[in-house]
Amino acid sequence: MLASSPQVFVAGLFHETHDFVDAPTGLGDFEIRRGEEMLACVGDSSPLGGVLEFAREAGWQVLPSVDYRAMPSGTVGDEVIEAFWTEVPDAWSPDIDAVYLVLHGAMTASSTPDVEGEILRRFRELPGGGDVPIFGVYDLHANISPAMCEHADALVAYRENPHSDAREAAVRAASLLDRCLKSGERPSLSLRRTSLIWIPSRTGTVTDPMNALERLARELESAHEKIWAVNVAAGFAYSDTVDTGVSFQIVGTATDAENAAALDELESLAITLDAIEPEIAEISPDDAIALLRDHPVDGLTVLVEPSDNIGGGAPGDMTGLFRILLGGEIENAAVCLNDPESVAQLSNHAIGDRVTLSLGGKGSRLDPGPVPLDVELLSRSDGHFALEDPKSHLASVAGDRFEMGPCAVVRHAGIIILLTSTRTPPFDLGQWRSQGIHPETLTAIVVKAAVAHRRVYDPIAARMLWVTTPGPCTSDLKSLPFRHAKIAT
Ligand SMILES: [Zn+2]
Repeated sequence: MLASSPQVFVAGLFHETHDFVDAPTGLGDFEIRRGEEMLACVGDSSPLGGVLEFAREAGWQVLPSVDYRAMPSGTVGDEVIEAFWTEVPDAWSPDIDAVYLVLHGAMTASSTPDVEGEILRRFRELPGGGDVPIFGVYDLHANISPAMCEHADALVAYRENPHSDAREAAVRAASLLDRCLKSGERPSLSLRRTSLIWIPSRTGTVTDPMNALERLARELESAHEKIWAVNVAAGFAYSDTVDTGVSFQIVGTATDAENAAALDELESLAITLDAIEPEIAEISPDDAIALLRDHPVDGLTVLVEPSDNIGGGAPGDMTGLFRILLGGEIENAAVCLNDPESVAQLSNHAIGDRVTLSLGGKGSRLDPGPVPLDVELLSRSDGHFALEDPKSHLASVAGDRFEMGPCAVVRHAGIIILLTSTRTPPFDLGQWRSQGIHPETLTAIVVKAAVAHRRVYDPIAARMLWVTTPGPCTSDLKSLPFRHAKIAT
């Protein structure tokens, strides 16, 4: 039966959970939109904005439920999942025609390692939920579980990392739902998990293995009429679950044998590519200093600190590379540290004052600790900025704007330090330019990321150096105390 104006229940639950950072993630860390508030996102750069715009054009009657999103961070408290689920039935109607979910796919809570699988299972138990089409979009860094594939009809992954296509992927998933509603065809999800677990710096889609896997996925989609979408889920290594790792799914109406053949191709390509030398090799702090001092380049050196990858859930205040800049007496350099305590301490000072602060090093026991430093206060702000790039990796969470919280810019010798009150992944240059700092004019800048910064920093970098420092997003997975994920030894 085809409704001309189908009622589609829309909800969002979005968190990438890092199980090895110290601080848990509570309800207060989530940005929550309810009912009509969700509709205000229509047309913005987020996945929710994309699906709402599609819904309007397709003539869906949207039942907005609730949208929970937070930046990547530590293990989620059980109360968050229960709070979310308490709100879902408010907008539920047994007469709905479909469900659309905006998910991340790598969310874990203290007692629920597979949050998305559990939530999808609960949808199936709602009155009328047993047989309704459930579609959704998820982040390329998802750890996809059998329960997710059992309870959803179709989930569609982002295809790019940096995630310039989060909104586009949401629209693709919505258009597949529209196809299902109009044709009456019900797709299913066929899952292939692998034993591969990749650190974030191996999951960029500009390079292999992901580039070749995405290309193969597109070939399989265009070669088979019954394959609606092929997902390459790169996984999120710091989420410690039995589902952690690289997986593939086929969405469509192909036979089990056809799906298995396509999944075999994807898996064997992944295994082959896993053996190649990673394109990104990290260097030691000593080598980084030697390069900065003895082999200067004309232009900006981007010093990448993957161990403090904010987009991966790290605290953004690790002092490893900051100490390198200080020790190397590097001139015309900048670093951003998330340090609300220092920002608060500066709130009563006048511009130009000299203050001694204990900078950074408070967010993880893996850091040697705060750096005591005499600094000059250059400016303060409310930390609000509009994204310069609507396809920014940040847009998948933030939409069009980001709040860094109260900020201060201080200087010590030749080093400019931007202090924020909210962790701000370095995915949009508006972060710096809103503070009067122009990264392209610097000699060196510290970037706390793995690869997602490249969309904005590649065009302005004369060179990019990945440096090994201690931190929760370490590239040495064997150094982390995994309990569930099977890390190869
Ligand atoms: Zn991601």
